[in-house]
Amino acid sequence: MEKTKNLKSVGEFGLINEYIAPEFKDLVKEHMTGIGDDCSIIPVSKSTSHIFTTDMLIEKTHFLRDKITPYQLGFKSLAVNLSDIAAMGGTPVGSYISIGLPKDIELSWIKEFMKGYKTLSEKEDVPLLGGDTTSSENHIIINIGVTGEIANQSIKKRSAAETGDIICLTGETGDSAAGLQALFLDLPEDKTTKPLFDKHLSPYPNVSEGKWLANHVDVHAMIDVSDGISSDLMHILNASFRKGNIELEKIPMTNSLLNFCNIHQINPIELALSGGEDYVLLLTINSESFEDIAKNFMDKFQKPLYPIGKIEDGTPKITYYKNNQQVENISKGYTHF
Ligand code: ADP
Ligand code: MG
Repeated sequence: MEKTKNLKSVGEFGLINEYIAPEFKDLVKEHMTGIGDDCSIIPVSKSTSHIFTTDMLIEKTHFLRDKITPYQLGFKSLAVNLSDIAAMGGTPVGSYISIGLPKDIELSWIKEFMKGYKTLSEKEDVPLLGGDTTSSENHIIINIGVTGEIANQSIKKRSAAETGDIICLTGETGDSAAGLQALFLDLPEDKTTKPLFDKHLSPYPNVSEGKWLANHVDVHAMIDVSDGISSDLMHILNASFRKGNIELEKIPMTNSLLNFCNIHQINPIELALSGGEDYVLLLTINSESFEDIAKNFMDKFQKPLYPIGKIEDGTPKITYYKNNQQVENISKGYTHF
């Protein structure tokens, strides 16, 4: 037993990669993919696999009860889990919800929570198939699991980035983090804050985009942006043993984010790179196919596929450029410890 180190000294990913994953590696059968991607993958035939993901939301860590409506929380809890299915390119099949609730919680709160959960379940055609219900001393604890299916040839792993690939985003980042700051500042809803609140409180998972992209062989690695572009791109780079360049002027940002940051003297790039909870997809595409895929993506989804950088040979690391000049001292993504 190690006595001197605590959890903070190794961090979330140190804990998973050094203390949890290696202990179970030998039990994971050769055909399975376990810890290390957005979902686990269990092939069920030569052509298809089952995928599974689970994510937890804890009161005071992930949400404040007086800053999010129960409807929004129900919607968001499922959304963040569906986002991991989207990141593999899969189709969600069913969800499971385990929930720990304080005894004095009002039934109307639970009803509204399930209404939000059901709204997204219906939109994405994903039935609730089971779960668990317990009491919790003070805090609301929510854990959701989602199963999905995918054609083996369409699976998009974090480890598949290739040298020369273009790094892309399916949407703007930073709004959610700005929305969180606006909530903390108790700002009223207006033209600038409303879209930021919406992105933070009711993110919509890119399931359709993920499935569509997965049908392209020249789309290589994919991940969803939950901790911020910097942190999530590092997962792709570590898994693919490559380095990446990001061109800061190409990072897509909404006018709401730019307005908000201007008013509150915040650097928007920091929120866009490191804020997290954006739930757009970050992917790498063979450079020769990029233009075609981006054009068809625009036709299909009426929004651009934003190129923000390039994959290169080298030790996993991100180099940031602004107008071709290298930039140092960029802050990293969110970490739990
Ligand atoms: P994501 O942000 O996509 O939900 P995470 O960063 O939470 O992924 O987790 C990274 C990987 O580590 C995933 O494959 C996840 O299943 C795995 N993981 C996270 N926590 C644990 C844990 N306590 N035990 C086993 N695996 C874990
Ligand atoms: Mg993920």
